Amino acid sequence: MSYIGRFAPSPSGPLHTGSLITALASWLDARRHNGRWLLRIEDIDPPREIDGASEQIIDSLQRHGLTWDGMVAFQSKRSHHYEDALQYLRDKGLLYACSCTRRQLRRIADETTTHAYPGVCRKLQLPEENSALRFRIGCGLVTFCDEAAGTMSENVPATVGDFIVRRRGPFYAYQLAVVVDDALQGISHVVRGSDLLDNTARQILLQRALEYPALRYLHLPLVLQTDGRKLSKQTGAAALDNNNALKNLLFAWSFLGQQATEDQPGSITEFLEFAVANWQRERLPALQKPGSNRL
Ligand code: GLU
Repeated sequence: MSYIGRFAPSPSGPLHTGSLITALASWLDARRHNGRWLLRIEDIDPPREIDGASEQIIDSLQRHGLTWDGMVAFQSKRSHHYEDALQYLRDKGLLYACSCTRRQLRRIADETTTHAYPGVCRKLQLPEENSALRFRIGCGLVTFCDEAAGTMSENVPATVGDFIVRRRGPFYAYQLAVVVDDALQGISHVVRGSDLLDNTARQILLQRALEYPALRYLHLPLVLQTDGRKLSKQTGAAALDNNNALKNLLFAWSFLGQQATEDQPGSITEFLEFAVANWQRERLPALQKPGSNRL
């Protein structure tokens, strides 16, 4: 089996404990399967980006010994691929322009008590200029197997409805860019945080519409703050101290439920060799399945 994994951080801040755990798990899973591991910087959301964060993330990964294969890919340089994919969907009649404002959408959500987009603009044939583009999902019941969470099922028309693939701007939506890049980079396995578990059904619908191959998914438990929220760059998670790389890696290893080393490893290289040889997915802590719409 050929294995190509990836780590795909958004440069909204430096690497922190939570993102190191994701990077380490996906790196180990790829290396354990003699696979390749790619690094892709998801810099398509300028308002959320912090100057210098991409360089900091790249430096931190290097300091932690998590080496990637090939060149780093930057989504900001890949717009032509996203446009090609949009054209493919447009030709199949699967895109439409939407001029709904956030305020209108909030009002509709309050009136209908659903957060799924009810298709207000679906039949209006609005011009694309100055509008968002939505993907027409049709019957979107998706069932997939997550290698940690097991069988997941989501009825996308009821949970999110036709979703945005290009925002007014234009800004390419994460859902579109991630699906296009995973396919064009030949990714076979996605190992990432379980905060993205409920994005997976949408991504599978797009993959199918674009006639891309299916991927294998493994979603990881999240590091939570004391208030129960996910430790994240947005909630001000502290940057990793690169001078304590070995200690950070050992913490991440133990968070991932893996077998303790017998002796304190002498170096990062020694630890990573031990970790590749001893990585066991079966030891990952159980995931809680969020949401009532899932099996
Ligand atoms: N860029 C996303 C993030 O930093 C991750 C995307 C993915 O792994 O699919 O949260």
